[in-house]
Amino acid sequence: MTQTLLNIVPLRAFADNYIWCLERPGCSRVVVVDPGDAAPVLQHLHSADLELEGILVTHCHQDHIGGIPRLLQQFPNADVYAAEQSRLPYLTQAVGEGSVVELAGPQLVFKVWEVPGHTAHHIAFLDEVRLFCGDTLFANGCGRVFTGTFEQLADSLRRLGSLPEETQVYCAHEYTLDNIGFAKWVEPDNAALLQREQVALERVAHGKPTVPSTIGLELQTNPFMRLDQPAVVAAAEQHAGHALPGYRKVFRELREWKDREYD
Ligand SMILES: [Zn+2]
Repeated sequence: MTQTLLNIVPLRAFADNYIWCLERPGCSRVVVVDPGDAAPVLQHLHSADLELEGILVTHCHQDHIGGIPRLLQQFPNADVYAAEQSRLPYLTQAVGEGSVVELAGPQLVFKVWEVPGHTAHHIAFLDEVRLFCGDTLFANGCGRVFTGTFEQLADSLRRLGSLPEETQVYCAHEYTLDNIGFAKWVEPDNAALLQREQVALERVAHGKPTVPSTIGLELQTNPFMRLDQPAVVAAAEQHAGHALPGYRKVFRELREWKDREYD
């Protein structure tokens, strides 16, 4: 099954959310990821004469699920894929670590990874070339820790970092420039980061999304994906005022530093 010919349309919602709409050319049945708001999805589907086959849910924050009831009113046969433990009322297909999601219309096959931390039951959907990671990994940053733990999020990000470098990263928010600001606090001399900032500034100035990113770019520029890099460890330890043995401690220091002093 080919995974290459796929249009992935970013539908903007609220101030900075992206709802990803996955469309196979020649097929009218599409899939959306994390529809926090129904309006932009319905507008797009109606204007392009598309039908909704499925909804993928990475986690149950309102800005990722709020549009589901209205979408199901219009498309009552759409399947809703979400984590088994999420207790999402509209769930029709409970998934968990290792589940395979197959959407026959647009010929999509994803596997599911559990990537807890931002929430306790956050999941990601992956195929050979792309990753839909909700609020776990952002371009140049990561989600906050809400109902999961710092250790879980550190481990989830490390696991995502093991994906092939060319994997495209479709996160759920346009936070890139803001995240770059903090990344520069951590690594002011990271040339790849400074170059990325120029690219992101240019794209934002032209009203274009800065995402998708790639795992390779995150490994070069995202401090939360660089927890073993000497410069990142040194910055975290300097901020903490003591040694931070192990990537989990480095992660917690960076995340709390950003929460308290930057965001
Ligand atoms: Zn969230």
